[in-house]
Amino acid sequence: MTSTLPAVSDAATGAAPTTATPLTDDQLDALRGRLGADRVRRGVRLAQYTSFRIGGPADALYTARSADELEAAIRAARELGIPHFLLGLGANILVGDRGFRGLVIRNAARHFRIRPEGDTGHLWAESGAIMQDIILEAVERGWSGIEHYIGIPSTVGGAIWQNLHFLSPAPERERTMFIAEAFESCEILSEEGERKVVDADYVQFGYDDTVFHHRRDIVLSATFRLQKGDPDRLHRILHENLSWRGARHPWLQIHPSAGSIFKKIEGVGAGRLVDQAGLKGHRHGGAQISPMHANIVVNRGSATAKDVRELIALAQRAVEEKFGQRLEPEIGFIGEF
Ligand SMILES: Cc1cc2nc3c(=O)[nH]c(=O)nc-3n(C[C@H](O)[C@H](O)[C@H](O)COP(=O)(O)OP(=O)(O)OC[C@H]3O[C@@H](n4cnc5c(N)ncnc54)[C@H](O)[C@@H]3O)c2cc1C
Repeated sequence: MTSTLPAVSDAATGAAPTTATPLTDDQLDALRGRLGADRVRRGVRLAQYTSFRIGGPADALYTARSADELEAAIRAARELGIPHFLLGLGANILVGDRGFRGLVIRNAARHFRIRPEGDTGHLWAESGAIMQDIILEAVERGWSGIEHYIGIPSTVGGAIWQNLHFLSPAPERERTMFIAEAFESCEILSEEGERKVVDADYVQFGYDDTVFHHRRDIVLSATFRLQKGDPDRLHRILHENLSWRGARHPWLQIHPSAGSIFKKIEGVGAGRLVDQAGLKGHRHGGAQISPMHANIVVNRGSATAKDVRELIALAQRAVEEKFGQRLEPEIGFIGEF
């Protein structure tokens, strides 16, 4: 199915206004002076760095390879007054077709280590570490606590930012588990420019929410508390969770997406409403409401951000007209559309 739709207003999808001015040559030079001439790249297409595989160019892109580099990049952008965005794996965002005006800091600070202390393991990881990497290492060494989140594309920073969650543990899956349950502390660069270690009280974990949605703090690294576990049981959980996900969700490598597109509606299910509005499988341009899961929009190969936004708006209108329920996008809209 395809459709032709009028342009969508920002208010429809919650996208940020698009009034930024392009980075000037002087600003680019200043950034290069602070971060290295060969490290700040101009006009890099962001699609390759998002799970949707959609998004125009960033005026400038810097890849931070350590927590110290991440701190330096954020400080440089703040002190030079340059608009900036911190990118993890880009698994919960839609980047506009016209890209991002300013500096995108890609977090590839991926060092991590596990410090055993009796039956407890303290897993310290830089915030750009990929969840899958730290999960596999922990499981391999017999540490339990984060195995439930296998198969969810995320950096450690992204996981804390949104309090990563999954219906677990197998086989009952009676409750949602949150990364907060394994969280011990994290080191941040605060909005005020202070580098400090904070605990769960500071982070205020909620459902898809933490203090980092409301303050411009940056997570530099985090420590998780793990317990000794039976490696065979841990491996079984990995397999069960991946199978469970694989049977219900479109496979990211074939159908790029940003996961759930609409926020959870308690007791109803946003996806169920989209499905009951007759939109499962509906295609608009290169974007499609997944035939497997109606709360996931997939890129069928050539989708633009415009296609995705129009499809989101179509689903919102259809559900509102039919059920009087307002669907709120869960993903972030980044840059110019
Ligand atoms: C196929 C698929 C399945 C998914 N399944 C699930 C699921 O089961 N459960 C679930 O909870 N989510 C799920 N998601 C959503 C996504 O995986 C999570 O939101 C994830 O935490 C995003 O992490 P990221 O590193 O990609 O963050 P990004 O998308 O790159 O960034 C998201 C936001 O976090 C901010 N951020 C990133 N790093 C930091 C940091 N170090 N400090 C401060 N702010 C930061 C960014 O600036 C941005 O605002 C799924 C997504 C996909 C594509």
